[in-house]
Amino acid sequence: AQSEKEAALAAVPVDDDAPTIFDKIIKKEIPSTIVYEDDKVLAFRDISPQAPTHIQVIPKVKDGLSGLSKAEERHVEILGRLLYVAKLVAKQEKLDDGYRVVINDGKDGCQSVYHIHVHVIGGRQMNWPPG
Ligand code: C5P
Repeated sequence: AQSEKEAALAAVPVDDDAPTIFDKIIKKEIPSTIVYEDDKVLAFRDISPQAPTHIQVIPKVKDGLSGLSKAEERHVEILGRLLYVAKLVAKQEKLDDGYRVVINDGKDGCQSVYHIHVHVIGGRQMNWPPG
């Protein structure tokens, strides 16, 4: 099987507006376990969880935000909402002893899907530094 790092290296895109697998999840063309949804944000369980709780929080409209490094002033509001929903989801998942919020960016960050997403990971003791 392809490692996470290999997937990340293979996925570096040329077009920030190119559709990704997350568009299909948003349109419910492929199944996912949705844990939160509003008009702007969707949160669903990661297909390959790295901890007992592993959720992706994403904007429904990408608007060029393929990754955090592409953020512009116009994205400030959605960036705030993504973090706020990360908190709501962590509470809903009863991660009362803490959790980790991660945004991987680009090749060195091991990003593999170029539609910005906030990982909410918890339900076990995390380690530091990350790999
Ligand atoms: O930060 P990175 O881009 O590596 O994260 C992408 C995440 O999206 C991975 O954790 C992967 O398991 C998840 N994923 C998913 N469902 C898919 C494709 C990827 O949950 N269909």
